[in-house]
Amino acid sequence: MPLTIAMDGPVGAGKSTIADVVARRLGILHLDTGAMYRAVGLSALRRGVRMDDEAALTALCEALRVTVACTPEGQHTFVDGEDVTGLIRTEEVSMATSTVSKVPGVRAAMVRLQRQLAAETPMLLDGRDIGTRVLPDAPVKIYLTADARERARRRYEQLREKGAEADFEQVLADLRRRDEQDMNRAVDPLRPAEDAVIVDTTGLTFEESVEKILSVVKERTEHE
Ligand code: C5P
Repeated sequence: MPLTIAMDGPVGAGKSTIADVVARRLGILHLDTGAMYRAVGLSALRRGVRMDDEAALTALCEALRVTVACTPEGQHTFVDGEDVTGLIRTEEVSMATSTVSKVPGVRAAMVRLQRQLAAETPMLLDGRDIGTRVLPDAPVKIYLTADARERARRRYEQLREKGAEADFEQVLADLRRRDEQDMNRAVDPLRPAEDAVIVDTTGLTFEESVEKILSVVKERTEHE
C-alpha cells in the first residue's frame, strides 16, 4: 500500500488547510473526504430528498458519480461531471451533510470510493473516520483538535475575511451542533483511533501546527 496518512478531527480544527500544506511538503496528494460527503449533501438538498429518508439517500448516493481532482491549487469535487467545489461550503450544506453522513448506505459508498483512491497513490486523507474505518492500517494517524471557542473564532474570522456576515455565538452554536451529530452517530462516529497521535492546535500558530504534524509523520515512518 502506498504511504497513507489519516487525519481526523472536529469542525474547524484546521484539517483542510493544514492537510494541504503538510501533503505538499511531503510531495503527496491531499484528499478532502468531507468535500465528497458535501457533494452528496448538496445533491440531496437540490433534489429535495428528505433528510430522514435513509433508503432514498442511499439510492441517491449510489446513483451519483462523485469524483475528485486533486490539483496543486487544491481539490475540485464533481457530481456527475459538474464541478461543485464553489457550492459546497455554505452553512446549509454543512448541516445537511452532517445529517446525510449518518446514513450507513451513504457511508459505505464513500468509504469504498476513498479506499480505491488511497490504494492508487500516496496521499493524506482528512475526514472523521479515516483512521478508524477507511484506513485502519494507515501507518500515520493524526487526530487534530482545538478548543471549541478557538475553532469557532478561526471560523468566524475566515467568514469575516470573505466579507460574509457572521455572528460569533451563532458560529459557535453551529459548530457544536455539527460536532455533537458527528460524534454521536451510530455508524463510525468521530473519535480518535486508538493509535492516533492527538495534536491540539489551541495556542499553536498555523506553521507550528504544520511542523508538529511533520514531526509526527517523520517519527512514525522512521519506525516502520
Ligand atoms: O470536513 P468537513 O467539515 O468538510 O465535513 C463535512 C461533514 O461531512 C462533517 O460534518 C461530517 O458529518 C461528514 N464527514 C464524515 N466523514 C468524513 C468526512 C466528513 O462523516 N470522513
